[in-house]
Amino acid sequence: MTDRGYPGIEGRPTLPKARAAAKTCTACDLHARATQTVFGEGARGSQVMFVGEQPGDKEDLTGHPFVGPAGRILDEALEAAGIDRETVYVTNVVKHFKWRPRGKRRLHEKPNAVEITACRFWLEMELELVKPEVLVCLGATAASSSTRRSRRTPSRRSTPRRSCARPTTRRAPMR
Ligand code: SF4
Repeated sequence: MTDRGYPGIEGRPTLPKARAAAKTCTACDLHARATQTVFGEGARGSQVMFVGEQPGDKEDLTGHPFVGPAGRILDEALEAAGIDRETVYVTNVVKHFKWRPRGKRRLHEKPNAVEITACRFWLEMELELVKPEVLVCLGATAASSSTRRSRRTPSRRSTPRRSCARPTTRRAPMR
């Protein structure tokens, strides 16, 4: 463990090693109230990487990214586009769920700049290991974090094309 709270990784980093190490990350305060780290999932070498803001309540409880309501929307979008989810990599800018209590519910709270910056350590490692050709940012936080120049992917060859857009809200048609 480094003095900044990042666990060490022995030897050459791999996705399984990074995922295992991130479980004990304490580099920002978010680990204290979350159930577990929710690291990205998908194959090394996936051509497309989807990046959201942070895990939600369901992701926090299961330990898997995009399995809650946002995951259902992503699955629908992938299906409509004819893309098998098994062939893409999905992750979040921040790997621990940030929330505030309201009664018995845990409400999503936006991560701040310190937390986002701290967790770029893991996002940059994922980018370096997966080397996607296309990066799809789901929401403003993902767009702003992912479009900053990566310290871990300095070469043009390893820099993916980025598609960053704010999520759209579906509205019922006016009658
Ligand atoms: S949010 Fe990221 S940087 Fe902060 S403790 Fe969790 S894994 Fe570490």
